[in-house]
Amino acid sequence: MLLFPTLFLLGILPWIALCADDFYKLLGIEKDASDREIKRAYRTLSKKFHPDKNPNDESAHAKFVSIAEAYDALIDPETRRIYDQYGHDGLKQHQQGGGRGGQHHDPFDLFSRFFGGSGHFGHGGGERRGHNMEVRISIPLRDFYNGAETEFTIEKQAICSACEGSGSKDGAVETCNVCGGRGMRVQKHMLAPGIFQQVQSMCDACGGKGKTIKHPCPVCGGARVVREPETHQLHVERGMPKGVRITYENEADESPDWVAGDLIVQLQELEPKMESGDALKLDGNFFRRRGRDLFWREVLSLREAWMGDWERNVTHLDGHVVRLGRDRGDVVQPGMVEIVKGEGMPIWDREEQEGDEDEFGALHVEYVVVLPDQMETGMEKEFWSTWEKWRKKHGVDLHKDSGRPAPKSHDEL
Ligand SMILES: [Zn+2]
Ligand SMILES: [Zn+2]
Repeated sequence: MLLFPTLFLLGILPWIALCADDFYKLLGIEKDASDREIKRAYRTLSKKFHPDKNPNDESAHAKFVSIAEAYDALIDPETRRIYDQYGHDGLKQHQQGGGRGGQHHDPFDLFSRFFGGSGHFGHGGGERRGHNMEVRISIPLRDFYNGAETEFTIEKQAICSACEGSGSKDGAVETCNVCGGRGMRVQKHMLAPGIFQQVQSMCDACGGKGKTIKHPCPVCGGARVVREPETHQLHVERGMPKGVRITYENEADESPDWVAGDLIVQLQELEPKMESGDALKLDGNFFRRRGRDLFWREVLSLREAWMGDWERNVTHLDGHVVRLGRDRGDVVQPGMVEIVKGEGMPIWDREEQEGDEDEFGALHVEYVVVLPDQMETGMEKEFWSTWEKWRKKHGVDLHKDSGRPAPKSHDEL
């Protein structure tokens, strides 16, 4: 009875070894990936497959372990070269032969080198968690409309990678012999014969850490952390609302003493700039957004507003053209707002609003009519005589013609 499972296992083991995933594929990176890209891939994937996040999922656990293995192999130039040339087998031989480089980390230990703490997530479980960080990033309305893949860089406290957060050049950390590792010293003062006062104070030999380092790390000076810029990918989805918060788990300040908190990015809208020579913006026209709707101001001349027969091509935020216009005789009143359906913002939270079939909000076009403040003398004269002629003939009254109630003081046109 016992024979069968044993044979079965023997049969399957070599198969597992043969099919070990390619390290580059595992991390989702190219063969020529830089150290930064390797680190970034590790950061992303190790959080995704961390067993704390995937309880009772053996395949996630296995993947978490493989990701750490892949990282260790590729981040070291020597082992990476061996891996590139001879693959998994070559690497195994190298490691069995006691080759230098490619430190083999316990996967949880490696995780803690990146995110602090003991290698576990700080959600419950009594693990100390660092503060969350919040940053605001402004992007142009265009990116809210079209969606965007961009990146941003922030400076944060990071665990020193040279000493892996130990603060020691040679990795040796000793217990402070002054305080015995407690970080505190108790001193007795005699207040009067036979009467003592105990005073507790921070151990100044180790600065309260309880540990001392003979040879501090030259990079962080023994502080175990450094300040460094870190670049993150920013994925802006079409129609995301202003002020939306995007969470980057465990990407806030790091420390060996706690699990890094979250980095929260709040998206703001960049104010449109007026100074550029962009012809579209010369007249101060740009799209403004309120929720899922867009607003646009279009300027018409007196002739256009009154007589009709005009056309406008408004270039939208993705470059497509919205045509506006009126036939001859079609009057536009100053301040009139025309609502163009389907030309507003893409609707981001469409799934949440049931029965909402629209993919886009509306575009509100407000018409501003500009009267000429100067006319050629000849033109002015002609207009004047036309007015006079028709006024005398019909007694033209614009208020009456427009069907509006007559104002109290009856001004003629
Ligand atoms: Zn001490
Ligand atoms: Zn260091």
